[in-house]
Amino acid sequence: MMPEGPEVEHVSRILRKLENKTIKSIQLTELSQKYNKYRGKKTEFSEFSKCKLIKIERQGKFILFRFNNNKVILNHLGMSGKWFLTNDDNKISKLKHPKAIITTEDPRTFAIFDDARNFGQFRKFPNYDTVMNYPPIKKLGLDGLELPFPLSKFHDTLKQKRNMNKAIAIALLDQTIVAGIGNIYKSESLFRAKINPVRFVKNLENREIEALGKAISITLQQAVKSMGSTIQSYRNPYGEEGSAQNWHAVYAKEGKPCNLCGTPITRILQNKRSTFFCEKCQK
Ligand SMILES: [Zn+2]
Repeated sequence: MMPEGPEVEHVSRILRKLENKTIKSIQLTELSQKYNKYRGKKTEFSEFSKCKLIKIERQGKFILFRFNNNKVILNHLGMSGKWFLTNDDNKISKLKHPKAIITTEDPRTFAIFDDARNFGQFRKFPNYDTVMNYPPIKKLGLDGLELPFPLSKFHDTLKQKRNMNKAIAIALLDQTIVAGIGNIYKSESLFRAKINPVRFVKNLENREIEALGKAISITLQQAVKSMGSTIQSYRNPYGEEGSAQNWHAVYAKEGKPCNLCGTPITRILQNKRSTFFCEKCQK
């Protein structure tokens, strides 16, 4: 399971402890050099030494590290990327897949990016504008964690012609519509809004879209408060698991009774992704 907006937001909030700290070094590890994506870039980050990390922000499922030399490091957790925040350098040798290490001064703190499946990203951009123009960032739609949730923008973006013939569950995974929703919160939001995931966007009534927008907002906010969902490997930078899985109503609950009506939860595949729902509650 890939970390979604709430997990990335929770991780970003913890990493913000590094804001305003002076960088001692940013290094790619020896291990990182085995992978094409990192190869040849080992010295690329030496220029960050003595720079100040001024801001850490989240854009969709990306984390941006902004420095006072104007440069930006863009990070994506991929499938199983994790950050570890520690003052103990012994921790580094205990990790199995460390790829990048940010070390700050005063006090010496290590933020280690460990990426077991190598789908993560850790790359440098010359300035903030170039990151914001990087297509995966530039194309991001409204942020699902924005408060208050922009209901009319959600309605207008969803009802664009290009989305009309999409099943709503497929549209919800499209980061150009709402950024930050992944497979878990897609199913949970649709259950909360009582909308059947196979319905076409063009057939959704305005009141249903409004209910869905509210459901997305409540679901994502609640997930941040729960420190995210730990289904398989997700941990926060202190190594702690999230607890949102404890209130999931439908995700990964195929065959279990719906908590509203008792009907067994159904799993279907849409574009090869699982969607879980209650056939009786979701119309
Ligand atoms: Zn039900």
